[in-house]
Amino acid sequence: MSILPELPKTYDACAVEERWQAHWRDEDHYFSRDSDRPRFIIDTPPPYPTGNFHIGNALNWCYIDFLARFRRMQGYNVMFPQGWDCHGLPTEVKVEEQQGITKNDVPREEFRRLCRELTAQNIDQMRKTMRRMAFSIDWSNEYVTMLPAYYRKTQASFLRMLREGYIYRSEHPVNFCTRCETAIAFAEVQYEGRTTKLNFFDFDGVEIATSRPELLAACVAVAVHPDDERYASLEGASLRVPLFGHEVPVVRDEAVDPAFGSGAVMICTFGDKQDVVWWKTHNLALRPAIDATGHMTGLAGEYEGMTAPECREAILAAMTEAGILKRQQPLEQRVGTCWRCKTPIEILSARQWFVRVDPQAILKAARELRWVPEHMLLRMEDWVGKMEWDWCISRQRIFATPIPVWFCRDCGEMMVPSVADLPIDPTVDKPRTPCPACGSTRFEGETDVLDTWMDSSISVLNVTGWDGVAPRPPFFPAQIRPQGHDIIRTWAFYTILRSLALTGEKPWEQILVNGMVLGEDGFKMSKSRGNIIAPEEILGQYGADALRQWAAAGAATGSDIQFNWNDVVAASRFQTKLWNIARFALLQVRKGVPAGDLAPTALADRWLLATLSNCAAEVTAAMENYQFDRGLKALREFAWEVLADEYIELVKGRLYGEGEARVGAVRTLETALDLLCRMLAPFIPSFAEEVYSQLSRGSVHAQAWPEFVFEDGQALEDGEIVARLVAELRRYKHEQGMALNAPLGEVTVMAPRAIDDGGDAGRALNATVHWQVGTSGLTRELVDVKFDMAVVGKTLRKDAPAFMAAVRALPKETLATPVASVTVNGAEVPVPEGAYAPVYASLVGGEQVDVVTVGDVLVTVRRSP
Ligand SMILES: [Zn+2]
Ligand SMILES: [Zn+2]
Repeated sequence: MSILPELPKTYDACAVEERWQAHWRDEDHYFSRDSDRPRFIIDTPPPYPTGNFHIGNALNWCYIDFLARFRRMQGYNVMFPQGWDCHGLPTEVKVEEQQGITKNDVPREEFRRLCRELTAQNIDQMRKTMRRMAFSIDWSNEYVTMLPAYYRKTQASFLRMLREGYIYRSEHPVNFCTRCETAIAFAEVQYEGRTTKLNFFDFDGVEIATSRPELLAACVAVAVHPDDERYASLEGASLRVPLFGHEVPVVRDEAVDPAFGSGAVMICTFGDKQDVVWWKTHNLALRPAIDATGHMTGLAGEYEGMTAPECREAILAAMTEAGILKRQQPLEQRVGTCWRCKTPIEILSARQWFVRVDPQAILKAARELRWVPEHMLLRMEDWVGKMEWDWCISRQRIFATPIPVWFCRDCGEMMVPSVADLPIDPTVDKPRTPCPACGSTRFEGETDVLDTWMDSSISVLNVTGWDGVAPRPPFFPAQIRPQGHDIIRTWAFYTILRSLALTGEKPWEQILVNGMVLGEDGFKMSKSRGNIIAPEEILGQYGADALRQWAAAGAATGSDIQFNWNDVVAASRFQTKLWNIARFALLQVRKGVPAGDLAPTALADRWLLATLSNCAAEVTAAMENYQFDRGLKALREFAWEVLADEYIELVKGRLYGEGEARVGAVRTLETALDLLCRMLAPFIPSFAEEVYSQLSRGSVHAQAWPEFVFEDGQALEDGEIVARLVAELRRYKHEQGMALNAPLGEVTVMAPRAIDDGGDAGRALNATVHWQVGTSGLTRELVDVKFDMAVVGKTLRKDAPAFMAAVRALPKETLATPVASVTVNGAEVPVPEGAYAPVYASLVGGEQVDVVTVGDVLVTVRRSP
């Protein structure tokens, strides 16, 4: 882009950003498949295409983009891919809403088409926001899980794990949402507190307490603790279930809490996880009383067809009528609910597909990763420690990857396609060969589909180049997985599990975990609270760079961030400040300097470069450790406090002059501007590009990350003294009511060692500055005394004026130490305690001066008359 003839006074972030975003080419962010540069592959989260790229996404992607841009500048072959995790319930529900249908009203394929259409529109919208945020995404590595190119790989991974015994099909109790009519995994169950009633009733002579009377029809046993004396006589007995009449055994189990209720509990299939454990341990019967839609089954007799809550009320009424309901008391409960619709989950036994979970292997792999921040590993350990069941991966839904399996209608044999034939839909496609067991050609396709996490948990295999066939992807493992802490137990867990199963290795080297964004009120953003901030709101007013600064500076990586408009405004102000710095510096650079020796010689220049060198080291270390807040803070402090407030003020005089002194300052400014742009490029790419383009050195994003080293410890120390004394004396001028450019007079700097500032301080202060080592020539003399009138007036009354005159008349050397008495009107009068204090002044060459202290440096000022 051509250089603007003159930089506008104000920085129009939105206009500049849109101009650059139209100019940048996608190709510049492409990963190169045949480069020998070190790889840096990012397993970017594939968001669910809701159509809204929300502010939590924005935070997550800012971190990724800071990192991608930083590594690219460091010379890495970076892949910042972008996927879309399309399948699943939320889109199905949205389509049902929009079309006014339910999934069963139209053919499966038609319903899928509607879901795909909606998803494609939503992806388009989210892409727009991502581009507006200036994320340097490698769009050549975009993947969409609902498209055949991707779900072919999901199916291939399923078949491989099936062949190798990691996947099996079994009748087993699973968590089930009866509203969504599908099994769900444990990771998708959310626990909520609620108050319910604990009902005590007579169970064939034994008192039982239950919170779920509707499960009475599903009762398969009564359990008591083996040491509970109260029930010793029931050993080997069976009891008759009230209202229903079937007989159930009494079992003894250590897990029964004798202190809860009456100490006897009923086991139902299934009230909770504990029921499942007891059901297995005691080999009990299965009585499914609730079906997949949440209605009572035929086992419930007269209650058949009722919903579970209706049945509960009916049974309680029947118990009351039968006189067996003894009492009720409130009970605080943690209830598992569906992540999607908040309906309390039921545990139903059904034929489902499962992935074997090996908690120890996952833990071992998780511990081999570098976790940023480190403590996030605890969340994984905590979750893995709670694993009891295998992962249920089958769903009874439609918009998902089909399970590529058929069953022979004649003999039940399972048939799978060859990988070359994938993807398939077994409800539409037919096997190529007859049943190997019986020769039949009549097949039934599996109608269950895969859990969406089965798609997204191979994202890392996909981005590292897996074709679905090779034993291991060519670029595996990826270097980093960035993601939110809310999906550690799902996406991170499942990815590790699947990578171990499919490749035998951990999926990445590092995992970078980001926090959540809270509303301005400190609460989780939600529609009901009305505290949602959409990225577009910020983009429209302040631009992407300001939002990106907010993301970087808001909190340490991994911490939750409370959104705050003030931070965005502050970010925008920083850009204004930077723009003013850049305009000033560029003006100087454009005026040109004669060619010649580049090495800066003036103290202020060397000081700035040494400070810049430290800043670069700090920023690099921060970026390497994903401490984006620390990196941006170092840049802000350098630009604002050191470069603008101190250095530029110090060298303005030289810049406005001529000759060699000017050259050093211009070159230093140019170096500072160049480095600042390069280090700011990952954070505020448009701003950095706009300023850097003025230097005519190509795109800032194609430059190398600065490895700038300028070591000059002496300049660092001495320059600091000069900068601070100028700052102190400018403050002094201000306090004295002087204009900052007014002549100050004679300034003597008494430093512990010789410092040569090349005249910068004098020019900056409009003063004659003398430098000297030590404080010779500076004296301190007693020039006056100051009376405490409260003391003097009280003790001497009308003699006070005469007393004061007498004190003043004493020789100065006498006044320096306390005096016992003075002569007042001929009488010896004692000097009251605290009556006066000596007043000293500093003098140079017999003339009074003001003294300003700057660390261990004394500065005297003799003001111009
Ligand atoms: Zn649900
Ligand atoms: Zn067969």
